[in-house]
Amino acid sequence: MRRPSSTPAVLVDRHRIALRHPRRALILDRDGVLNENVDGYVLQQSQIRLLPGNPEALTAARRAGFAIFVATNQQCVGLGLISLDRALRVNRSIVNAASAGTVLASAICPHRADASCQCRKPLPGMLVALARRFHLSAEHSYYVGDAATDSIAASAAGFKPVVVRTGRWDGQDALIDGTIVTKDLPSFVSLVLGR
Ligand SMILES: [Mg+2]
Ligand SMILES: [Zn+2]
Repeated sequence: MRRPSSTPAVLVDRHRIALRHPRRALILDRDGVLNENVDGYVLQQSQIRLLPGNPEALTAARRAGFAIFVATNQQCVGLGLISLDRALRVNRSIVNAASAGTVLASAICPHRADASCQCRKPLPGMLVALARRFHLSAEHSYYVGDAATDSIAASAAGFKPVVVRTGRWDGQDALIDGTIVTKDLPSFVSLVLGR
C-alpha cells in the first residue's frame, strides 16, 4: 500500500538481528523509562542520565523470551533542534548503555506535533509498525511508558499498557483502564517474570 506523500512514514532503526521470529515483546518508551527526562529534549550525550537497574532487568526479560524494542517521540528533530543523524546517534548511545544489547530496534517519531503523522504517541503507529515488521503478538506484549499518552498508544495498538513512576506521570492524568503501574522498569520486569 502506498502512502500519500504528505503522511510521514514510521522510522525504524534496527540495532541487531533477531535470531528467530519473536512473538511476545516488551516495547519501551525511552525518556523517563531508560533515562531520566530532562527539561526540553535530550540533544547531546552529556544530557544522558541512565536510570538504575535496567541492563540487568532487560537481560532477564530477554532470557525469558521477550523481544525488546524502543518506541520514542523525538519531536526535537522536526523542530530543527537536532539533525536526524545526531538524534539517531544519541538514541543508540542510550539504548546501548541502558539495555545491555538486548534491544532489537528503535522506532522513532521525528515529526512535529502538527505534522499529522501516524506515529507520534498517543497514536499507535510506531507500535503497530514494530508489531508488523517483527511478527509480534500484541496481546502477549507490553508497552512501558512514563505518561498517560503512552498508555493510550499501548491500548490503541492492542498492547498491555504499563506506566512506570520514574518519569512524567504524577499520578493525576487518567491512565487507560487496566494499566499496570510500577515504581520503575526493573520492578515491572520482576512482576512479569514472577520473581
Ligand atoms: Mg517518556
Ligand atoms: Zn511521527
